[in-house]
Amino acid sequence: IIRMRGVHKRFGPLTVLNGLDLDFRPHETTVLLGPSGTGKSVTLKHIVGLLQPDAGEVYFHDQRVDQLKERELVPLRKRIGFLFQMGAMFDSMTVGENVEFPLVEHTNLNRRQRADKVDRLLKMVGLGKTQDKMPNDMSGGQRKRAALARAIALEPEVMLYDEPTTGLDPIRSDVINELILALTKQLGMTSIVVTHDMNSANKIADRMVLLYDGQVAADSDPCTFRNSKSELVQRFIRGQA
Ligand code: ATP
Ligand code: MG
Repeated sequence: IIRMRGVHKRFGPLTVLNGLDLDFRPHETTVLLGPSGTGKSVTLKHIVGLLQPDAGEVYFHDQRVDQLKERELVPLRKRIGFLFQMGAMFDSMTVGENVEFPLVEHTNLNRRQRADKVDRLLKMVGLGKTQDKMPNDMSGGQRKRAALARAIALEPEVMLYDEPTTGLDPIRSDVINELILALTKQLGMTSIVVTHDMNSANKIADRMVLLYDGQVAADSDPCTFRNSKSELVQRFIRGQA
C-alpha cells in the first residue's frame, strides 16, 4: 500500500535516510523501531509528503507521493492520518471543535451529522462528554486520545503514529495500544507505529522493523525479531530494559 524505494534524505551535512527501501502491506501493523535520531519521524513525514526525498521514490498505491504538489497533498492526507509525536491540537479550540475540524474542512456533513460523528469518535477513544473541554485542561493521555479521534475522523486507510505512548504510564499506554489494535482489526486500517517502547511494540506489532543508519537493519515478525541473532537487534532490545 506504501512503498519507499532508495529514499535518501540529508539535512546539511547529516545523512538521515541512506537509501531506505521499505514497503507497508495493507491491514498490517508495522512497528518502526530505532535509536533516537535515526530517522523514524523523518520516514513518516516522507509518507505524507511533509518532507521530500533528495533521491528515491515514495508511493501510496500507484501514486508518487514525492512528486505531488502541495495542493495535491490535501486528498492524500485525507487517506493517510497522522498522529504527531506531540499529539498536536489547536489549543484555542475545544476538544469537540478539534475533532470536528477535519469534518468541516473535508466533508459535506451538516452540523447535526458532524456533532453525531464527533460524539461517536470521542466515545470510541473513551472520551465521551469531553467535547467542551479545552485541550490544555486534559491529561497527556487524554490529549493523545483526542488527537487520535481527530486523526481518524476522515476514516483514513492508513494511520501513522509517532510515539503514541511515549510519556504515558503503562495503563494509559495500553489504552492507546488497544485503540490501535481495534482500528487495525475492526476497521481494517493499515498502521505504522513509531515507538521506543518495546512493551507496546510487542502488544501491537504484526511486523517489526529496525531502522539504523538510515536503512532497514531488521525486518520480521515480532517473534523472529525478538529471537534475532543480530547483535544490533539484541543491543536495541536490551537497551529497552
Ligand atoms: P526520536 O526517536 O528522538 O524521535 P527519530 O528517529 O524520530 O528520533 P528524526 O526526527 O527522524 O529522528 O530525526 C533524524 C535526524 O534528522 C535528527 O538528527 C534530527 O535532528 C534531524 N532532522 C529532522 N528533521 C529535521 C529538519 N527539518 N531539519 C534539520 N534536521 C532535521
Ligand atoms: Mg521521532
